[in-house]
Amino acid sequence: MRYLDPQIETLPRAELDKLQELRLLAMLQYVYDGNGLIREVWDAAGVKPSDIKSLADYRAKAPFIDKDMIRDYRDRNDDPCGGLRIADYRDIPHVGFTSGTTGDPTPVPNGKGSATEPEILREFWQIGARGGDYVTYMMFTFRGGINRTSFLNEAGFTPILSPHDPAMLPQMIEAIETYRPTILYMLSTPMMIGLEKFFETSDKDPREVFKSVKGGVFGGEPMSPRFQKLAKDWGIEIFDYTSLGDVTGAMECRAHNGFHAWEDLALVENLDPDGNPVPDGEMGELVVTALSDPWAPLVRFRTADLVKFDRSPCSCGRTHLRFWTLGRAGDQTFINGTAVLPRDIQAIVEQFPETKAALFQIIRPQARMDLLRLRVGYDGLTDSQEALAARIASKVTQVLGVPSDIELVPAEELLKLGPPQKIPRVTKS
Ligand SMILES: [Zn+2]
Repeated sequence: MRYLDPQIETLPRAELDKLQELRLLAMLQYVYDGNGLIREVWDAAGVKPSDIKSLADYRAKAPFIDKDMIRDYRDRNDDPCGGLRIADYRDIPHVGFTSGTTGDPTPVPNGKGSATEPEILREFWQIGARGGDYVTYMMFTFRGGINRTSFLNEAGFTPILSPHDPAMLPQMIEAIETYRPTILYMLSTPMMIGLEKFFETSDKDPREVFKSVKGGVFGGEPMSPRFQKLAKDWGIEIFDYTSLGDVTGAMECRAHNGFHAWEDLALVENLDPDGNPVPDGEMGELVVTALSDPWAPLVRFRTADLVKFDRSPCSCGRTHLRFWTLGRAGDQTFINGTAVLPRDIQAIVEQFPETKAALFQIIRPQARMDLLRLRVGYDGLTDSQEALAARIASKVTQVLGVPSDIELVPAEELLKLGPPQKIPRVTKS
């Protein structure tokens, strides 16, 4: 069987829309009654849940929230959950934290039946894991870092648990050789750097170590071309993974052509800055509404993630739309009018042996500048620092057509800037 939940995963578009409408209408009043931020925002906009009788009403009338509004509500009301919590604290099994990449971490209540659980199970099944399998579970901070693992046990998996910490990799590799898991969940840039270092100094053959692995899930940021090649050399099929606007996760399928957004768990929109829908294939902002979150649902949350959508059927047979992440709206830097995103830099920096880990930051006091300032982490030197900086700057000019200033720092200094799954790619200083 190709799908864990064939009926839902291949639900025809018209039925999927109907299911979303049913779930949305069933939850709006409950959310409005219990969620202080939504009540405040909807009252200010003069909209009541009873005004919403269809998906079209919702798209036309529902006001937006964003991260700043959540933080502002939190500070004004001394409410750690920013007004989003609707469940009683006694009913909340776990509170985790968002990664805080774009500011201070936000607490996220979650628990049994959270949208992340069916999402992870559908992905594991799709990769090829079945009941009785071991899976590695090296979770980072994603949406509270789903600390619960009992849902994996209930599905018949035995998780091998470890913090998302490269220092734990030697023990994890030993566990992989002992228990032969079918899934590596999850890899990230720092974990790939750690694995590469491990195999450089070990006599173990990575293909032998990973021979039971049917798929490695990679998240935090897009995987760089060099790490993609490395994973392939190790015999690991990589499945890119991303956050669906903090509602749940989203992973590639075997077609490796975009992330599937589970539309029974989240209502997703791609909108322009004025709130109008962006046609499929064009870039806009991901806006999400949780359809299955009894603790702290996000309702029309502007994520600031730049995405493209594709609603055409996927070759894997799933009907849920696919999307591509293009960066964070706030991460776009304009150098003399040319837009530069971190992923443009990644492919350049990793071409040099001294900076192959692609550890870098764009230093950007404001979005528009006339010089691209980069802080780049290096490990070892083949000539002088000045010569390396000049080689990188020359490549940046050649590929992107913008002038740059390169500041070199030891790679381990940059890695300390965590969170554990990535370093902030854009910084003010
Ligand atoms: Zn697919």
